[in-house]
Amino acid sequence: MERLPAIPFPCTRCGLCCRQAGTVKELSELDRGDGICRYLNLEENICTIYGERPEICTIGKSYEKRFSHIWSWGEFLFLNLFHCVELQRKSDKKSEYVLEKSYNYL
Ligand code: SF4
Ligand code: SF4
Repeated sequence: MERLPAIPFPCTRCGLCCRQAGTVKELSELDRGDGICRYLNLEENICTIYGERPEICTIGKSYEKRFSHIWSWGEFLFLNLFHCVELQRKSDKKSEYVLEKSYNYL
């Protein structure tokens, strides 16, 4: 398994992934009924159970347990960032989500 780099995942905290919880099988029970995770603070875009959030919401743990035998850490980061950028591009508030952070990382 490739060792995880010290660089953290460059999340811009847009909260858009947490607004898609209903589309993720492992998070379907957290769907408050409109696809949004019940633990997302909508004003701050922060997870209210951050310390105890599900494993799938923790990119490092998720990679180590589920995907490290398929992809390198770099590939996994790229795939995740690709989806973040796509979500931000489609958002009606895209200017608020600092896409450049993700692009610069790539
Ligand atoms: S969509 Fe990506 S950048 Fe936005 S909160 Fe989720 S992980 Fe972070
Ligand atoms: S548990 Fe937290 S990190 Fe996971 S989808 Fe819900 S708000 Fe987002």
